[in-house]
Amino acid sequence: MKKHNFYAGPSILSEYTIKNTAAAVENFAGTGLSILEVSHRSKEFVAVVDEARALVKELLDIPAGYEVVFLGGGASMQFCMVPYNLLQNKAAYLDTGTWASNAIKEAKIFGEVDVVATSKDANYTFIPKDYVVPSDADYFHFTSNNTIFGTEMRYDPDVNVPLVSDMSSDIFSRPVDVSKYAVIYAGAQKNLAPAGVTIAIVREDALGKVTRPIPTMLNYQTHIKKESMFNTPPVLPIFSALQTLKFYKELGGVKVLEKKNIEKAAILYDEIDRNKLFIGTAALEDRSIMNVCFVMNEEYKELEAEFAAFAASKGMVGIKGHRSVGGFRASIYNAMPKSSVEALVEVMKEFERQH
Ligand SMILES: *Cc1c(COP(=O)(O)O)cnc(C)c1O
Repeated sequence: MKKHNFYAGPSILSEYTIKNTAAAVENFAGTGLSILEVSHRSKEFVAVVDEARALVKELLDIPAGYEVVFLGGGASMQFCMVPYNLLQNKAAYLDTGTWASNAIKEAKIFGEVDVVATSKDANYTFIPKDYVVPSDADYFHFTSNNTIFGTEMRYDPDVNVPLVSDMSSDIFSRPVDVSKYAVIYAGAQKNLAPAGVTIAIVREDALGKVTRPIPTMLNYQTHIKKESMFNTPPVLPIFSALQTLKFYKELGGVKVLEKKNIEKAAILYDEIDRNKLFIGTAALEDRSIMNVCFVMNEEYKELEAEFAAFAASKGMVGIKGHRSVGGFRASIYNAMPKSSVEALVEVMKEFERQH
């Protein structure tokens, strides 16, 4: 039976990425060696890093003055690396979910943190909008897509200070005005590559302003200067990331991906809104086009386990909601084909007919 992969992360990758990665595990770039056993300083792999960096810049239309680095440690490492490198006096943070609050916790180690707004009391079902970012903040940090709660900020906020964003689960899903940002970071395992690499897009003139000493490995300047080769980078995930980036370019870039993503998400949300058994959990205006969260309608609550089993029997994988929301979450990242979304909708319709 065909499996439809709705896992939240690590998550679906394009067939192109999987096939080319599998081939390179056998024989990388005609070297006769596996990608798993080549030196990260071989000319073949250095070419991979260079091309990946160039494609990130091209796809996101990154202006001059920014550098792209490939790091280990996941997005969670960026929660500390950002304030380590950028927070001198005070930073502003928007609390829109678990990942945002984890980032806030780390930032507090380094200085004053102004949490400008939070939707915690509403279990993060919406994105706060009435907030003021103090103009003396070093930066304003937000999570563009809240993977767990299914809310998303599909815009680059207008504030008086440089932006920093955790785009782990929606990078490359839409165009971004990079010029507004000091740092954009994203763990790869949602929209790009297998787990193990994190992309950081860093404005170089935002660095070097804090007075604290920064450990070498946690200093963005180290990795910029050494072009992501200060130490051994995650070789295989970077190779896979390059395949995905090529695939995105081939498809027509992030504008085309955005259009496809909006279309896919609408198919699923329309069904959630139509189907009497289900109800969406995120505020309508903040609904994510990457992670679609829904629960059983109150009077059908007892059918939850039955629907989960039914969907699984039809090849739907990974639609169980995060424990802090419950119900279901369908993650429909860039690589998710429209046909899989349609298949899930068909399962929801069939289940409704039976009840
Ligand atoms: C998955 C995720 C993280 C955590 O990423 P790690 O690479 O596991 O540290 C952080 N932020 C967001 C938005 C995520 O979706």
